[in-house]
Amino acid sequence: MLGLMQNHPLMISGLLDFAARYHGDTEIVSRRVEGDVHRTTYAQVQQRAAQCANALDALGLTAQDRVGTLAWNGYRHFELYYGVSGSERILHTLNPRLHPEQIAWIINHADDRMVCFDLTFAPIAKAIAAHCPGVRHWVALCETGALPADLAEAIPGVLSYDELLAAQPTRYAWPVFDENTASSLCYTSGTTGNPKGVLYSHRSTVLHAYAAALPDVMNLSARDSVLPVVPMFHVNAWGIPYAAALTGAKLVFPGPALDGKSLFELMRDEGVTLAAGVPTVWLGLLNFMRDNKVRIPTLQRTVIGGAAAAPAMIRAFEEELGIHVLHAWGMTEMSPLGTLCSLKNKHLALDKASQFSIQVKQGRPIFGVDVRVVDGNGADLPWDGKSTGNLLVRGPWIASDYYRSEAPSPLQDGWFPTGDVVTIDADGYIQITDRTKDVIKSGGEWISSIELENIAMAHPAVAMAACIARPDPKWDERPLLVVVKREGNTLERDELLKFYEGKVAKWMIPDDVVFVPAIPLGATGKILKNRLRAELTASPQA
Ligand code: ADP
Repeated sequence: MLGLMQNHPLMISGLLDFAARYHGDTEIVSRRVEGDVHRTTYAQVQQRAAQCANALDALGLTAQDRVGTLAWNGYRHFELYYGVSGSERILHTLNPRLHPEQIAWIINHADDRMVCFDLTFAPIAKAIAAHCPGVRHWVALCETGALPADLAEAIPGVLSYDELLAAQPTRYAWPVFDENTASSLCYTSGTTGNPKGVLYSHRSTVLHAYAAALPDVMNLSARDSVLPVVPMFHVNAWGIPYAAALTGAKLVFPGPALDGKSLFELMRDEGVTLAAGVPTVWLGLLNFMRDNKVRIPTLQRTVIGGAAAAPAMIRAFEEELGIHVLHAWGMTEMSPLGTLCSLKNKHLALDKASQFSIQVKQGRPIFGVDVRVVDGNGADLPWDGKSTGNLLVRGPWIASDYYRSEAPSPLQDGWFPTGDVVTIDADGYIQITDRTKDVIKSGGEWISSIELENIAMAHPAVAMAACIARPDPKWDERPLLVVVKREGNTLERDELLKFYEGKVAKWMIPDDVVFVPAIPLGATGKILKNRLRAELTASPQA
């Protein structure tokens, strides 16, 4: 017998309808590419999203056509999130930090019909337009009359977004269709081969937005002012543009200004209560606030994920700045939220040190995400916080396959293999010890590169650290530590290696330290370990 409840599909357009209806005057604030700070509201965004959808109709884009974006976090990008998906097209967020050739490859693979770009990315659009024959419309995200002459020359027919919208009505009859219909597309950064397209649906996106807002996840509400530092081109800014509309939270978009000073000023001026981003971005903010002895009184919590947040960073946020860190783990294939770290009632009685040892983990699965930890043969390992194995996941916002992929589905008996090596404890808290490809295999034992990095990051003279495997004739691989020193410090190799004594088993201590002026970061701000390995471990030790 079926239940007697209405079968009303979960639509992305419904999120914006809700926000405009009940939080119409709540602000969306953006630092623009133009340099100024722009203010709009959910009610106005709904009108502009409707104009955007009408413009797509007028240009002849049909249902499920892909619309690419090369854009920072800002209100125009936000309008596209709703105008494109709401009108049954697919929003394809492109990562502008990739090489132009790779961007063109992705556009062609996705068969995008239109590409909208911030003027900052006009050089990319100019470089690739001729190589993307399927793209019928190139649209610059700029004001009417602001199209640079050289752009119009380089891309004949290029349109201005504001001009395009101005000609359209501010109402749109958002269609209602099967909630499993594709809504948006994001390619993984391709650190392991060609980028792969993850195709989200309306259902997965709305369910993920509900989950993101939960108290033990981001705890979002209409009282929040949220600043996603994580880009809208990287897994939909962790779903914040949807979860904010679902709760009526104020949104603050930083545009291209991601340095510590700019982020600090915007957060202070807009009363930001929650910010989210990868660890490398927080380093800039942390250093700025430390150096200038400033605080953001409203900022209560930050979500840090995408790569391991070092305990030293979590401690600095908590103890020096009074900002609570929520450590999160996820993947593009998971929309992205998988786990988030928050304490349970029984932990409240623990002392601070014991609470902290939980807080540094990647957290507990969110309802909707099932997890397993398995050994090399696929057999389940115990949840004892010690047994290390591969993490498998499944759930309604986790990918079942890649878009237009010729390879067989990645699923193993319905479970998605994350490529992460983890332990799970009896309470379900997950700790990521490594990505499979970054584990250091020394004499048949596995050494966690993240653990070694976390120790280095706790040294006061270390600004950033990465640990990689160096081929070794005797042990197969040995850990090599790569370090950027904090300015003005004279840290030596031996001093840093001594710092490891007593913190890990002797055989796990790195063999050597290489000091470098900078560590290469990938398109999503994560450390590029494959490049470090290629540059620093080319010739095996004699
Ligand atoms: P990619 O970098 O492959 O494009 P994602 O951006 O989706 O893909 O990154 C997902 C990966 O990032 C995870 O599989 C995991 O290895 C790593 N990751 C994400 N969050 C964390 C975290 N909090 N701690 C450690 N690793 C993390």
